Amino acid sequence: MSTPKFRIAICGGGVGGLTLAVALSQYPDIVVDVYEAAQSFCEVGAGLGIWPRSFKVLRKLGHDLEQQLIQRCGYECTEEYVRCINHRKSDQAAGFQLFDLVTKGNQMRFHRADFHGVLLSHLSPSCTTHNAKRLQSYIQPRSRKSPIRLIFKDGSTATCDVLIGADGIKSAVRSCMMRELADVIDPRQKQSVLSCINPVWSGVTAYRTLIPAEKLRARCPNHRVFAGGITQYLGKDAFFLGYPISLGKYINIAGFTLQPDLVSTAYEADPRISRRSFQGKANNEWVGELTAEQFVEPFEDFEEDAKLLLECVEKGTLWAVHTVKTLPTTNFGRVALLGDAAHAMLPFQGAGAGLSIEDAYLLATVLGHKATTLDTVPRALAIYDKLRRPFTSDVALRSRLNGQICAFQTNVPLHKVGKTITKNWEWAWLTELDDALKEAVRLMEDSSIRIS
Ligand SMILES: Cc1cc2nc3c(=O)[nH]c(=O)nc-3n(C[C@H](O)[C@H](O)[C@H](O)COP(=O)(O)OP(=O)(O)OC[C@H]3O[C@@H](n4cnc5c(N)ncnc54)[C@H](O)[C@@H]3O)c2cc1C
Repeated sequence: MSTPKFRIAICGGGVGGLTLAVALSQYPDIVVDVYEAAQSFCEVGAGLGIWPRSFKVLRKLGHDLEQQLIQRCGYECTEEYVRCINHRKSDQAAGFQLFDLVTKGNQMRFHRADFHGVLLSHLSPSCTTHNAKRLQSYIQPRSRKSPIRLIFKDGSTATCDVLIGADGIKSAVRSCMMRELADVIDPRQKQSVLSCINPVWSGVTAYRTLIPAEKLRARCPNHRVFAGGITQYLGKDAFFLGYPISLGKYINIAGFTLQPDLVSTAYEADPRISRRSFQGKANNEWVGELTAEQFVEPFEDFEEDAKLLLECVEKGTLWAVHTVKTLPTTNFGRVALLGDAAHAMLPFQGAGAGLSIEDAYLLATVLGHKATTLDTVPRALAIYDKLRRPFTSDVALRSRLNGQICAFQTNVPLHKVGKTITKNWEWAWLTELDDALKEAVRLMEDSSIRIS
């Protein structure tokens, strides 16, 4: 290979980091190293839904990758209008249908491990992966000729020309970047910048599990979750959803409780719930193991249909859902953030992974562009920030609102719930990343345009 134009280090091999590594494979003049904290690249077992907007981005990564993903889903990707999520009012003995969320194109749903496996199998030879490498900090010299120095928790170091923090909600890269920024900005803004380092508890607790589909089928062969699509069982302050994954082998269940009075308070783990360790994953203290009884507790008064599902739960995990404040920037010099590191949000639009895929593709587009050299990397990353940050901040707000509506914590009347939620969510199937990609290329090619 001829001399590479630069070496990119991706910190974090989750959905966003691996998508970036795959997307950069189309640029043979870029050398990529992925540093992952965990011993192996893996995703803990749970479902993952990808909306049409983000799935279209995955398609750009090649026909083979797309086909493998479709195979893992077990159903075709359509452009037709489909009934995607059936919403019920369920916190009463006789639940009833509230509305069907109709989307243009279907949501593609996966077991997270399957999804991860497909990305991993498409990494190019120009990409080297390193496991058990937890980044602690980095040092970015002013001169672009000097490499960025990466310092890992095990004491080892490495260098790169460009660093991308795809290291999730507790991002070490974000922490360093905000400190770098705080050192150079107006001292009056310093505290505000530093307050973006630590994630904030949202008052939301997620309950996650997979149940064997056979177990439910034995009790209730015609249960509505077998009809395909998602069913959301809504109740005051708590709701959950269920849908089949892994070619119908499991039913993924994700439940939520929302405690508005606890937003932005320090999360205090319930001592009755045992803490869980996930193969070196960063967020252990926010994760607990649930018995079946603990899992179903918030949904005890729900309708029969919901109970039938919950009776099949054997155990589950509890996640204290944290978010990241809207950042003043997602780039600084030759360093940028993507995915949860940049905009961890509430999961009520099932969008976080999809957005990290979009971030990754846009980043690969600007970094891989022929106009991007080591000298113009900061401009490329500033273009990325300009095009992505307003968009992802807006989605974060919409996601929060949808959760509040689903938990009946707003004054939206029941008959308007469907319309409000749909309007709030339709960006995920009625818009495309392509406009941002075109704009990014235009800005890259016209260096006279100032990026502010
Ligand atoms: C209950 C729930 C349901 C959800 N459902 C959906 C859904 O259906 N669809 C959807 O799109 N999104 C969903 N999300 C959101 C989605 O899971 C996240 O937004 C997504 O995983 C973010 O991807 P990421 O690559 O940015 O970060 P992560 O997936 O968190 O990956 C970060 C990686 O970095 C590694 N790492 C961390 N620190 C370091 C370090 N210092 N050095 C090196 N490596 C490090 C981690 O080990 C990890 O592998 C859901 C979230 C929740 C809580």
